[in-house]
Amino acid sequence: MRIVLLGPPGAGKGTQAKRLADRYGLPVIGTGDIFRDHVARGTPLGLRAKEYMDRGDYVPDEIAVSMVLGRLKEPDCRVGFILDGFPRTVPQAQALERALTEAGTPLDAVLNFKVSDEMVVKRLTNRLVCSSCGRPYNLAFKPPRVEGVCDVCGGRLTLRSDDDEATILRRLEVYRRETEPLVLYFWERGLLRDIDAEAPEQVVFDRTVEALSDLLDVDG
Ligand code: AMP
Repeated sequence: MRIVLLGPPGAGKGTQAKRLADRYGLPVIGTGDIFRDHVARGTPLGLRAKEYMDRGDYVPDEIAVSMVLGRLKEPDCRVGFILDGFPRTVPQAQALERALTEAGTPLDAVLNFKVSDEMVVKRLTNRLVCSSCGRPYNLAFKPPRVEGVCDVCGGRLTLRSDDDEATILRRLEVYRRETEPLVLYFWERGLLRDIDAEAPEQVVFDRTVEALSDLLDVDG
């Protein structure tokens, strides 16, 4: 199963990606997570990506595309994958489509998580992320059991450096301009389902599984 998750920052893509991965046994390719890992390790890719990420801008297409297409060739992606945060621009979508068509493994589904700008700001300004396993928490909606500590792995919870209000607004603006055109792009290909993602996590997950079974004709 080859799935793309679309939606603005704070739509819950990362959370749902992890749950879908557990349910269907698929790897998650979260481009933001991969870039953050490179930044933390100080690799050349990380040093280039950081300047864009700190501003709330997108990393240039050629960097994101070569990173993802390389990752998709790894053996764990043979069973399929969940792309979280890629493609984010029309050229990225075209490059992905070309590569998957050449490999004879086209996309099966694109899920478009819809949330209002107000909800995005509310979710992201309260977001904490585990520095060890990447699991997201939210001080308003989903606090950890012990303050500052991941429920699952015991890692330290941190704020993301691009989750301040000015950078969030910039990321939303870039999303609406660069990524929203992909909704039409994938809809025209018959791959897209909208998910109302303003509900609690479990409700959104149930909607997601239903949308997938509808698109793929499989049981949840
Ligand atoms: P995310 O964790 O998905 O919110 O991504 C964090 C940041 O990583 C974004 O604001 C971008 O700067 C960068 N990024 C992630 N995915 C992409 C992509 N597909 N294309 C360009 N930049 C990306």
